[in-house]
Amino acid sequence: MRKLCLNLLAVGFWTCLLSLDCSQNQPQSTATDDQHSATNSDPKPRVERVLTKEEQDKLTPVEVLKLLKDGNRRFVSGTLTSRDHSRQVREAASGQYPKAVILSCLDSRIPVEDVFDRGIGDVFVARVAGNFENTDILGSMEFGCKVAGSKLILVLGHEHCGAVKGAIDDVDLGNITPMLKNIRPAVEHFTAYEGDRSSENEEFVHMVAEKNVRLTIADIREQSPILREMESKDEIKIVGGIYAMDSGTVTFIGE
Ligand SMILES: [Zn+2]
Repeated sequence: MRKLCLNLLAVGFWTCLLSLDCSQNQPQSTATDDQHSATNSDPKPRVERVLTKEEQDKLTPVEVLKLLKDGNRRFVSGTLTSRDHSRQVREAASGQYPKAVILSCLDSRIPVEDVFDRGIGDVFVARVAGNFENTDILGSMEFGCKVAGSKLILVLGHEHCGAVKGAIDDVDLGNITPMLKNIRPAVEHFTAYEGDRSSENEEFVHMVAEKNVRLTIADIREQSPILREMESKDEIKIVGGIYAMDSGTVTFIGE
């Protein structure tokens, strides 16, 4: 009981901290749901300010997923939103109300915010080679959703993933070896695969990368009663995606 009370106090503390500046951070201008505006001289959408708590509260998980899909289309077509980051950094200094938590691979070729045309205060991004979950990542996701109000968890794998290739080839090197063990269940899922089971086989690498995303999603649901309950109440959605290096397109899975 005492532990429960302490937990509730802790959540209350974070909630207070996050909402402290709610009244100070109200928008001065009107804006669309995604805060976009455009002028005749500049056809690219522009974002003038960061997301507020009111706007975050109104969004549903399905709407957040649509925003990410629309943002990825802009990324692919080269019409990324222009943002005044130096101004937004100051505006967001005392609070944040992000829409989503994205778990990505470490890979430097995936600029996560750009891939979904997001800016300061829009998304939490957790990164680890092979985009798998562990206690620290789960805690971060629970903070992002339960405390800070995010509506979507996206596990983002990608093609040509070095971590997936390392797990397939059973690389033995320092701390990389225990790290890759987190991806091995996705490799071992395909023991009956009759093709070339090495990192040379792009088809096999793709199969393992996608399976790894699906297993990570299953593990999140299994290991986090908080997130599982939020999803069962439609307060959040947990989905996956695979990022294609050659086009920048994200193919969503498990919607
Ligand atoms: Zn990777």
